[in-house]
Amino acid sequence: MKIFIATKNQKKLKELKRILEPMGFTVLCEKDLEKPLCEVEETGTTFEENALLKAKAGLLETGYISVADDSGLCVDYLDGAPGVYSARYSGEHGNDEMNNKKILEELDGVPKEERGAKFVSAIACVFPDGRSFTVRGECHGYIAFSESGNGGFGYDPLFIGELGCFGELTDEQKDSVSHRGKSLRKFKEELKKYL
Ligand code: IMP
Repeated sequence: MKIFIATKNQKKLKELKRILEPMGFTVLCEKDLEKPLCEVEETGTTFEENALLKAKAGLLETGYISVADDSGLCVDYLDGAPGVYSARYSGEHGNDEMNNKKILEELDGVPKEERGAKFVSAIACVFPDGRSFTVRGECHGYIAFSESGNGGFGYDPLFIGELGCFGELTDEQKDSVSHRGKSLRKFKEELKKYL
């Protein structure tokens, strides 16, 4: 059975492929399309809404079962920001360096006990017959006082989770505790119920 992963993010693609291929799916992605995947305006107010918007766009484009992830960082001291705006927090979409700089500036002088934060990942799956579902994974931690590590991406160098700073973890360590690792494991179980 064919399944389309509606993402431009190669890291997300790799993680989703790792789950779906062993389940017997033929995984299709942007490079299998004749034209580039359209940019979806992320107008939702929740991660689930945005994941559904992206997955629905994938279904519309391909006609296959489509899957998409929407994720981000929520900082307690900033009332949950950057949240659904995580990728474009500093203005420019996907500028990790500027995003991290902005978070550190906003938390300047804030003590450790007030630097709590969580990563969230919502995965949406939509089917050609109109059915759909979403799952969510979260992981809790706090924001460091400076960046560390060369691993991961995005806010990883700033996030201290269960096993330490996400920027310093191996892929396997991060998968075992991360928001996306959790949402992917839930996704796998939920998808089986729909097949
Ligand atoms: P999305 O592509 O709209 O889901 O944006 C996700 C944004 O949230 C990314 O650009 C990162 O800034 C942040 N993010 C999501 N997941 C992670 C993660 O696992 N580590 C670090 N940053 C993440």
